[in-house]
Amino acid sequence: MIQNQKTVLIVDDNYEDRQTYRRYLLQDKQYIYRILQAESATLGLELCKQGKPDAILLDFVLPDMNARAFIEQLQVEFNTNKGSKLPVVILTPQQDEALAGDDETYDYLIKEKIDAVCLRFAVHKLIEQTRLELELEISKQFIKTALSESEKRFRLFADNLDAIIWIASPDSSQHFYANKAYEKIWHRSCDSLISQPLSWLDAVHPEDYERVLVKLQQQENGQLTNIEFKIIRPDGSVRWIWDRGFPIRDETGALNYYVGIAEDITEQKLAHEQIRHLTETLEQQVMERTSQLQAANNELEAFAYTVSHDLRAPLRAMQGFAEALAEDYGKLLDEVGNEYISRIVNSAQRLENLIQDLLAYSRLSRTDLYLQPVNLNNVMFEVMTQLDGDLKAKNAQIAISAPLPTVSAHPNTLAQVIANLLSNAIKFVRVGEQPQVLIWAEITTPGWVRLWVKDNGIGIKAEHHQRIFRVFERLHGIERYPGTGIGLAIVRKGVERMGGRVGLESIKGQGSSFWIELKDDSR
Ligand code: ADP
Repeated sequence: MIQNQKTVLIVDDNYEDRQTYRRYLLQDKQYIYRILQAESATLGLELCKQGKPDAILLDFVLPDMNARAFIEQLQVEFNTNKGSKLPVVILTPQQDEALAGDDETYDYLIKEKIDAVCLRFAVHKLIEQTRLELELEISKQFIKTALSESEKRFRLFADNLDAIIWIASPDSSQHFYANKAYEKIWHRSCDSLISQPLSWLDAVHPEDYERVLVKLQQQENGQLTNIEFKIIRPDGSVRWIWDRGFPIRDETGALNYYVGIAEDITEQKLAHEQIRHLTETLEQQVMERTSQLQAANNELEAFAYTVSHDLRAPLRAMQGFAEALAEDYGKLLDEVGNEYISRIVNSAQRLENLIQDLLAYSRLSRTDLYLQPVNLNNVMFEVMTQLDGDLKAKNAQIAISAPLPTVSAHPNTLAQVIANLLSNAIKFVRVGEQPQVLIWAEITTPGWVRLWVKDNGIGIKAEHHQRIFRVFERLHGIERYPGTGIGLAIVRKGVERMGGRVGLESIKGQGSSFWIELKDDSR
């Protein structure tokens, strides 16, 4: 079929007239016409049955039927609604004009006045009308399908939601919609909510009622609302609800609707409550345990301090009398007797060292340490001076990679820590070997300084790396390497109390590298 071809049916018993109209139409440049002709209404109806024409030129008076009867039958044929127009233009002779003009449903052309232009104009109008009607029909159909599809999707979505979606008037006097979740949560029907818009309020817990009324007021004022409240279901069970409402305004800003979402948050509330309760209990327990531990610790430290202190008086007596014995009676005793005296003096000295270390360790736990910027170069100098006698006696070689940075520390504690590490480094070497110690610092993690003390000594098996930091843990006999077993415990406790960490790298027989890590304080 030609795209622009239109079918026009001319129903007229006058042959000349039909030919005239046909000629007018064939001269039309806008459309190409397929022209059907019928000399009677019956033939016209017959042709219409074969296919609906785009336009019908209908003679007002036909031999077998008048135009109105023809149109009525056509309406039945095309199943058109009463009142809807068919693409018909009625051609009426001058004398019937008044009669035809009564009916405004159809266009009329006065036969005697018809010329090519007005006929074509009338047909164009009909074609245009048909086209518009068709488009309108398609659009209507499309909107209908789209709407029903979107409604179906919305219902599918809304009815499967656990949360209630509600739509109400801002003054709460009407509820337009609530999904099925309302029934699941409130245990009341959606219909009851629609018919009695405030019936949901009946379930609100008396404790929360006032607050919910405030929410309704906010809603009426067009504010956003956000509220948690309890409801009591018909079976008496209590549920927690979290409800949020949003005002919907039209383009003029007028408040039209209020939409909201309400969720049952009972499970979360219970879990939250449980967690809060557990946290409280836990905090309470931690506080109790901490204070018990603190008390036990204080007692232990006080005990260690007192014992150490009290031990010193008899120890001093032992030392004093042993020395007096050696001085006053040494000559009267033989070699074995003098050997015994010297053993008493040595043992007393060891006990003295032990007590000193224990006191230092216990003091470290008991005193407050105020941290300040400490220049490691100065501390190293102090420690080297303090250990000078030992270093010389052992002919130790100490290499310091200066300058060293500044750290946040307690000066005396830091000096004690470094002195312990350095004295170990020169102590635990093979017999006859010159101790060689290397000291340097590096930034491992930003903000932290790691100070290394590396020796060429006997090294430590990996399995002992942790335990040597505990009190009285020693790996060697007292005769071979004298000591109390408290030095590294002081190192760890001291560094930890200054907020730092300790560690070592060592392989047995290959020297040890101890490190301490403290906050960088170089500004
Ligand atoms: P002490 O030095 O009084 O024995 P410490 O607590 O300082 O006690 O050290 C515990 C143990 O760790 C030492 O007895 C020794 O066995 C081992 N140790 C410590 N420093 C070194 C080191 N630099 N090289 C090898 N072993 C070490």
